[in-house]
Amino acid sequence: MRVRFWGTRGSIAAPGPETLRYGGNTPCVEVRTDDGTLLIFDCGTGARELGLALAKSGPVRAHLFIGHTHSDHIQGLPFFVPAFLPGSHLTIYGPAGIDRSFPSAVGGQMDYAYFPLPIKELPSQVDFEELGEGNFSVDAVRVRTQYLNHTAPCLGYRIEVGGVALVYATDHEPQSHPAWRPDRAPGSHDPNDLLHPGDARHAEFLRDADLVIHDSQYTAAEFPAKLGWGHSPVEYVVDMALVGGVKRLALFHHDPTRGDDAVDALLEACREHASKAGGHLEVIAAAEGGEVTLPERSEAAPVEPGPRAPRVPTRARILVAEDDDSLGDMIKEALEEDGYEVQRAGDGREAVRLAEQQQFNLILLDVTMPHMDGFAACRALRADPRLEGVPIIMLTARSGDEDVLAGFAEGATDYLSKPFALAQFRARIRSWLTRAAEAGA
Ligand SMILES: [Zn+2]
Ligand SMILES: [Zn+2]
Repeated sequence: MRVRFWGTRGSIAAPGPETLRYGGNTPCVEVRTDDGTLLIFDCGTGARELGLALAKSGPVRAHLFIGHTHSDHIQGLPFFVPAFLPGSHLTIYGPAGIDRSFPSAVGGQMDYAYFPLPIKELPSQVDFEELGEGNFSVDAVRVRTQYLNHTAPCLGYRIEVGGVALVYATDHEPQSHPAWRPDRAPGSHDPNDLLHPGDARHAEFLRDADLVIHDSQYTAAEFPAKLGWGHSPVEYVVDMALVGGVKRLALFHHDPTRGDDAVDALLEACREHASKAGGHLEVIAAAEGGEVTLPERSEAAPVEPGPRAPRVPTRARILVAEDDDSLGDMIKEALEEDGYEVQRAGDGREAVRLAEQQQFNLILLDVTMPHMDGFAACRALRADPRLEGVPIIMLTARSGDEDVLAGFAEGATDYLSKPFALAQFRARIRSWLTRAAEAGA
């Protein structure tokens, strides 16, 4: 398998003398398997140069995996020359959005207001595959998707072929900061020492990968000011790679303000962090034009079926228990805008009573409420076997380690701290509803 970086910059293109070595183009990574399957991860401005290189040998068969539809990840598509060649066939995979479908989110950037040629008029064959979480195959490549924690529904991709595993995971924010439990044994990289199960799930997604390409936009020092923006500090990324037993990590989605020398310094710090942990993890910083070769070791594994459209609940019913009326109303309004039916409860006791009488697809609980607090309500709800598959999400200003641990101990599915970014909250709700629908709740 050959991997080539065509765009490594996050958020917006940042060309100039400061970014010559790591590059100014937004995300685009080319992956070619030994038997010739062409996979492309994201279609930022780096896709323009990639398209020019591919088009030299005529029409192209390619599989484009889009993590999410923020502009830095799709803006290269209208300038991707193979799309303009009759005989080319592009399959574009990506997550369903909240306010529109995946094809209309990607294709919308080519509407007349933005571009002279609508996507429907491209002379190539363009197919869309809307994805949720799951497994499928493309030729001999096994693909697994998992939701990341971003300000839009966003998927990470894990591909395996010939005994080689590669993970592409951008854009993603830690589920908890700091990520570790306070009683963590010094130097431990045991997933059980992570505070939030969402981070343990993320590390598991990276498990034993030969190469992980990961959002590394911030440092831990910068991160508190960027909380809720949906990106990772590098220290967390190295930790997740260590927890997952990753062999090589490529820092990716570089901040547009970070020049080459600053990326060098970040890389140096990450290498030091990795070497203190025993030196099993190699860290590189993705640079435009850079290549990584991962020798395939075995014959292709048995193939799984192709992707299946995710079951996205259209009229999901959500119960919101929140004693602060203005916040409760704000949450209700946002969730109704996303097409859900929302029922409010003013305290834990009312939430439990409503859940006994009515069916809900998801329950949101504040912690500090009169009569019965969120933890006690969660315990009562979890005692009801009817609610077994229903996600219960704590949404609270109580963000101490012991609170988070208490929430999960009472059976919460997820734990979100206030204040929260509304976009990230909506994406998180959508991913839990999709997961629950897939699990047949
Ligand atoms: Zn991005
Ligand atoms: Zn984004």
